[in-house]
Amino acid sequence: MAGQLPYDNRPWPERRDAALQNQTMRHTIGFVTRRFTLIKGEIYRTSPDLEASRKTAVGQKRQAIRDLPQLLEQFRNQVERRGAHTYLAAQAQDAVDIALNIARSHQAELVIKSKSMVTEEIELNQAFEKAGIPVRETDLGEYIIQLAKERPSHILAPAAHRNRHQVEELFQADASREKISPPQSDEIEDLTRYARSRLRQEFLRADMGVTGGNFLVAETGTLVLITNEGNADMVTSLPPVLVSIVGVEKIVRDWASLTEIIQQPAMSGIGRHLSSYTTMIQGPKSPGSVEGPREWHVILVDNGRMALRDTEFEDVLSCIRCGACLNACPVFREVGGHAYGSVYPGPIGIVETPLLTDFQVLPELPSALCTLCHACQEACPMDIALPDHIISLRHTIVKRHLNSSTVNWTLRTWARFWSTPGGYRRSISLARVMQRLSGKKRNAQGLFPGIFAGWGQTREIPQVAPKTFHEWWQEWKERAEEK
Ligand code: SF4
Repeated sequence: MAGQLPYDNRPWPERRDAALQNQTMRHTIGFVTRRFTLIKGEIYRTSPDLEASRKTAVGQKRQAIRDLPQLLEQFRNQVERRGAHTYLAAQAQDAVDIALNIARSHQAELVIKSKSMVTEEIELNQAFEKAGIPVRETDLGEYIIQLAKERPSHILAPAAHRNRHQVEELFQADASREKISPPQSDEIEDLTRYARSRLRQEFLRADMGVTGGNFLVAETGTLVLITNEGNADMVTSLPPVLVSIVGVEKIVRDWASLTEIIQQPAMSGIGRHLSSYTTMIQGPKSPGSVEGPREWHVILVDNGRMALRDTEFEDVLSCIRCGACLNACPVFREVGGHAYGSVYPGPIGIVETPLLTDFQVLPELPSALCTLCHACQEACPMDIALPDHIISLRHTIVKRHLNSSTVNWTLRTWARFWSTPGGYRRSISLARVMQRLSGKKRNAQGLFPGIFAGWGQTREIPQVAPKTFHEWWQEWKERAEEK
């Protein structure tokens, strides 16, 4: 069954132009992604044994996806055995409804959250705010984009598109609204000091915590969270009620599998051996424990994932959300995550968005935002065949007539011209006329009328040879015969 994903309904050219005109975003995204890629290269270069561990992790994860129904069952049994509650949400809305019911039944007045892409996917915050229950993001990047009312622009570094001056402005506005002391400057230390003191109050006041999850260990019923700020520790230990919302594909079989895979997100995403904090939750607070939630609820989200099993796209479910494919992608580095219009940007977003929604949203992604350079394939620690999938999705889009009418018309006309020798020759003659009109100018700007004007703005046209090979051959033959 197809899932539901929120998306930006501005047309692609509008999203693209907004991105290309945002020089600050392009600079910061370019800087962050290049830096991550550089450090990652260094760590693999200096630790040759990592490659063997990565390959083992890929094999074990693929097997876990094949055994997903049984492993999920095992995970649920283990969690429930310790007094926690589990739910299977078929659709995004089901997950939201379950979480809202839990919050309402505890009269929650403030919810704190650690970073989670699946809660972006189901638009949890929006639903809670609508229900009158404020949600506070506690990951620094998420906190920044929450103040900016934006979606994450990178799956690992949600505020990678903003520089520190912009962050200071957001914090200044927040401080003035809350009537509290603003940050002292736009130095990173001052900004983090402000965020820490502000969020600490919320940690203490919250009556419900919400997390995502990086891994679910079926053998032990353990939820594993990896973070770099330690905020997940606070979210999972201070509020009396904890709700963890996790995609079903996060399952791993056992502790041995976890030890192979747990390094991969940090190594491939940010070039470190391990994230700074690893939080493991096995159940609610037991009698005598000093910390931990009194209640723990785990919502396992399907939302189109299960339908990918036993298809050519099954490997997509091995994604560990490390962001390495985004960092390596030359298109992502130029336009950033918001241009994609999907919760999941970059190469993995191009593949997942149409698949999870059965092409209901953003069908332009596989064609418009990929050059098929294969950089993502090389970067992906889980060996997901991203370029092959993108080609396959393009085929489906053409077969199902999902391209815009302009694209369809252009391709049909092109095919008509080039499917006969006469048509091909006429198109070359036309190209020569265009070339004469443009003089020596190679930039196509201003050469194309109407709907093609935008296309011409950023392209250089190749010089058409004065003669085609056939013309040259014909002339050569005639000259040879005359001799
Ligand atoms: S597709 Fe691969 S590289 Fe991209 S986020 Fe997922 S695991 Fe990381």
